[in-house]
Amino acid sequence: MDSGEADCPTGGSAGRAGLVAQDGKNSKTVLCQRCGSKVLCPGVALFTEKELFLPAMRKKLGSAGGAQVEGEVDGDTLTAHWLVDDMYAFENVGFTKDVGNVKYLICADCEIGPIGWHCVEDKKSFYVALERVKHA
Ligand code: ZN
Repeated sequence: MDSGEADCPTGGSAGRAGLVAQDGKNSKTVLCQRCGSKVLCPGVALFTEKELFLPAMRKKLGSAGGAQVEGEVDGDTLTAHWLVDDMYAFENVGFTKDVGNVKYLICADCEIGPIGWHCVEDKKSFYVALERVKHA
């Protein structure tokens, strides 16, 4: 209860109201949380709920000699995603190396991630987690 402005004529119920347009598409530009690099233009991704596990965010996967605990991956199961069916719909995006049959999406500029999830067996499903990106 700390919103200073009393606007929002359509009165959203969920916190993501305003992000999802009436047709279920993203109404705002999707940006990298860290560097602001543009990931998706408005209207190219469909809001989807699906349980996907994404490892914890970090920059530059697998570098800077940290002590990694093997077999134990820190992360979150996220359910709110932008679904994109065409890789060319992305403005900027990078991919990690395959982990099994999964590739994770990362920021093309600063390489923070994972911000999303993609199965190499399904060329038409790219998921970008709402919680891992910024909307503007
Ligand atoms: Zn970035």
